[in-house]
Amino acid sequence: MVEKEMNEKQKLLSGLPSVDEILKSKNGIDWLKVYPRRFVLQAIRETIDSRRKEIIGDISSNLSEELIIADIENTIEKLSSYSLNPLINATGIVIHTNFGRSVLSKRALENIKRVSGSYSNLEYDFVEGKRGKRYNHVKRILREITNAEDALVVNNNAAAVMLCLNTLSKGKEVIVSRGELVEIGGSFRMPEIMAASGAILREVGTTNKTHFFDYENAINENTSLILKVHKSNFRVAGFTEDVSIEDLVDLGSRHQVPVMFDLGSGCLIDLKPYGVYNEPVVKDIVKSKVEITTFSGDKLLGGPQCGVIVGKKEYMERIQKNPITRAIRIDKLTLAGFEATLQEYIDEEKAIRNIPTLRMLLQKPGELKNRAYRIAKRLKAKLKNAQIVVVSDSSRAGGGALPEVDLPTYAVSIKTDEISVNDIEERLRKGVPPIIARIKEDSLIIDVRTVRQEDLEGLVKGVSLALSI
Ligand SMILES: *Cc1c(COP(=O)(O)O)cnc(C)c1O
Repeated sequence: MVEKEMNEKQKLLSGLPSVDEILKSKNGIDWLKVYPRRFVLQAIRETIDSRRKEIIGDISSNLSEELIIADIENTIEKLSSYSLNPLINATGIVIHTNFGRSVLSKRALENIKRVSGSYSNLEYDFVEGKRGKRYNHVKRILREITNAEDALVVNNNAAAVMLCLNTLSKGKEVIVSRGELVEIGGSFRMPEIMAASGAILREVGTTNKTHFFDYENAINENTSLILKVHKSNFRVAGFTEDVSIEDLVDLGSRHQVPVMFDLGSGCLIDLKPYGVYNEPVVKDIVKSKVEITTFSGDKLLGGPQCGVIVGKKEYMERIQKNPITRAIRIDKLTLAGFEATLQEYIDEEKAIRNIPTLRMLLQKPGELKNRAYRIAKRLKAKLKNAQIVVVSDSSRAGGGALPEVDLPTYAVSIKTDEISVNDIEERLRKGVPPIIARIKEDSLIIDVRTVRQEDLEGLVKGVSLALSI
């Protein structure tokens, strides 16, 4: 009996194709034309190996050649696929740090391609025929948009803050309100950045209230900077007080202490006409005569990841000379994308129309409603058994921007008796392309604010697939 089983297994094992046979088959030859040899070999070996283990372990498996070939092909595709991939953001959170923050404008993408598919004058001065500075490419336009004396762009805003602190305050005190010692997503914590820069943190005031005299009393001969930090991702409500940037600038100038404002978001245009009241505009902050302002390129500004420092020339020159600047310098892809994004701001209406982050944030409710109904209609046509309705809801800006602003939105709400909402959410998340949606009570919520025109086909297909049993 045992012997008979052994013979049976032996027969199955010797029936398996060899690596070489598969490599030389039509499929093998075709794969080698498209995929790296290393992945083809690995996939064939892994697939045959797992079949062999199944036979030995008495696990019944389908040993048809067709299925083996299909398995190998799947494995090759997995091995050669990218790790970083696009997804469909149906959360309604526009500046989602986990989803890459801002989606770049067409113009930014085109410029990245134009510049980096060729040699460029990244650090070359045509006029003089000698070495130029990479930082100069966006200096003029940043000065024009913000009215600042000088500007410098580095890898991100965390690096910008660190560079400024290291240049102006290494071994010296920096006065910061306790209410502004923020932590921003992705482990940016003000006290830790300060420590890493070599500056000495001098906390003043309390969590909810910091007064002018708190700052004034803290100034001493070792004070190098007064730092104000925008509470990007939270609000203290109720019994609160903080000191305006104008008052801090006034205090600083009386004691010859420079003032720096870490704005976080980098809002370049006044959003009040669009109902957003609490976001300081870079130009207005510069007007207060603050010495240095820092902000991100990929939050409200809507460009690629980078950090911008604008300010008074004497400080900017010292900052640019710091050797750390070289270690956190901006690369040419980012520079090309950022210059193109900034060009849109020459005309504010164009910026709102062409920069996806601004366009998504400032969409009119009517527009959102129409899109939600269009998506719902297409889904209903495909999914007869699901309950699909358009609901009004609210979305968030995200990315540490506009924390107190709830943006009224429209969403497609989906529910079915056959599959639980958690299962639907998981299926969507694991689909190709992945679709990330919210769950509210027992329904799946597709917030259309962040669903782009280009996503519609994939969204309808993905949801239909996820809801078919
Ligand atoms: C987001 C933020 C930062 C960090 O900026 P990154 O561009 O993410 O490095 C620093 N300070 C404030 C106030 C922020 O909101």
